[in-house]
Amino acid sequence: MLKGGDNMSLPVVALVGRPNVGKSTIFNRIINSRVAIVEDQPGVTRDRIYANAQWMGKQFVLVDTGGITFEDNVIEEQIKTQAEIAINEADVIVMLSDVTGHVTNLDETIAKILYKAKKPIILAINKADNPEQRNDIYDFYSLGLGDPIPVSGSHGTGLGDLLDAIVSKFNGNNTTDDDNNIRFSIIGRPNVGKSSIVNSILGENRVIVADMEGTTRDAIDTIFEKDGQKYTIVDTAGIRRKGKVYEKVEKYSVMRSISAIEQSDVAIIVIDASVGIIEQDKHIAGYAHDAGKGVIIAVNKWDVPSKTTTSMQDFVKVIRQEFQYLDYAPIVFVSAKTGQRIEDIVSLVKNVKENQQRRIQSSVLNDLLLDATRITPTPLVNGKRLRIYYMTQVAVVPPTFVVFVNDPELLHFSYKRFLINQMRQNFNFEGTPIKILARKRK
Ligand code: GDP
Ligand code: GDP
Repeated sequence: MLKGGDNMSLPVVALVGRPNVGKSTIFNRIINSRVAIVEDQPGVTRDRIYANAQWMGKQFVLVDTGGITFEDNVIEEQIKTQAEIAINEADVIVMLSDVTGHVTNLDETIAKILYKAKKPIILAINKADNPEQRNDIYDFYSLGLGDPIPVSGSHGTGLGDLLDAIVSKFNGNNTTDDDNNIRFSIIGRPNVGKSSIVNSILGENRVIVADMEGTTRDAIDTIFEKDGQKYTIVDTAGIRRKGKVYEKVEKYSVMRSISAIEQSDVAIIVIDASVGIIEQDKHIAGYAHDAGKGVIIAVNKWDVPSKTTTSMQDFVKVIRQEFQYLDYAPIVFVSAKTGQRIEDIVSLVKNVKENQQRRIQSSVLNDLLLDATRITPTPLVNGKRLRIYYMTQVAVVPPTFVVFVNDPELLHFSYKRFLINQMRQNFNFEGTPIKILARKRK
């Protein structure tokens, strides 16, 4: 799966609807069809409220808001909140209902909330398992959300129509800025100091546009300039917006982080030095990595721990251990309170953006390949040796390379890893993931 092209940002599609209409069934249907074709990533469960999906070559992030739940809350409140979250965070909203239950009060409540959204809404009616039931969907016109699309999560029918409707609402690139503008997001769980960092950065630099309205989401971006370079902090409002109950919910903050990461070139993962690393930190960081975005790890509140001469190295060691797949991410120790090294964040963002766009000539790559295979010969798998004939770069952001081989099955993770390490030693790809794809030489 090539994710070529600069500034690519995936649209976020949210599923909303009352319980038991089949949201997670539909979610899994859409996801699994992709998994079967594109990736070998089993075990999609309800814990996973989001996943990448694609239809007709268009990629998007699908979110099942039914999975965003709260303790001590009546069902109706839960659902209202889920719908509000969808309005705030999604580019396209799919309201799902169920033909067997007809139009219920809860359906009407949800529809009323969705009227407020200034974004595309699609109405899908599930459990239309047979032709008669497909005729029953006309009741749902009363919701005032346009033509209902009949689907059956059980049988998989109607999903093509639903997906066609979804992707027809995508309006190309979500970002409105020019290409010279570097977009980054500040990501992390509540209280790590995200809004303090934003304030500190904006206090030090010339703000050009504060609170620029996003095109499709209610997100608000802020543009500033430093040394002639323009930067956008994605979703500044979301970072500062505080206090709503649901914003303390982990799955909600994960979802908001996803939409911010999708709109960014570089994600700054903020860790609280006074607390250390917890599971939630890793979850969000993993998403940025998978999305192929640039990643910087900022350890904030560095003014808090009492320091010995080794404490920084110790912390680095722990981070490297906990975030093994992010071995390429630079780590910066900052304090939003004192302003210490806050400006380094901005310089690092610029470096990472450069590295994401780095192109290496094929001749140089093939010299490297020759040296690399000399140091560590290609492995023998079941008596068959991997042969690599040629390597070429096919995309930037993230840098993506294709190796032409005798048999792609023979290029295992460990040898791929070795090649990636060789590339990192020879070229500056700090802060960006690198992808290597194997293709059979014809
Ligand atoms: P959610 O609460 O909205 O996520 O709903 P689920 O996906 O958990 O589905 C609720 C129930 O409806 C489950 O028992 C499903 O097996 C069933 N269900 C889902 N899709 C269909 C469908 O297309 N037809 C029928 N007859 N049942 C379905
Ligand atoms: P957010 O929820 O991630 O946006 O976090 P905030 O920026 O609201 O900060 C949470 C708390 O941590 C506030 O009380 C801040 O004053 C405090 N805080 C933020 N950055 C620092 C820092 O660098 N050092 C110290 N000591 N406190 C900080």
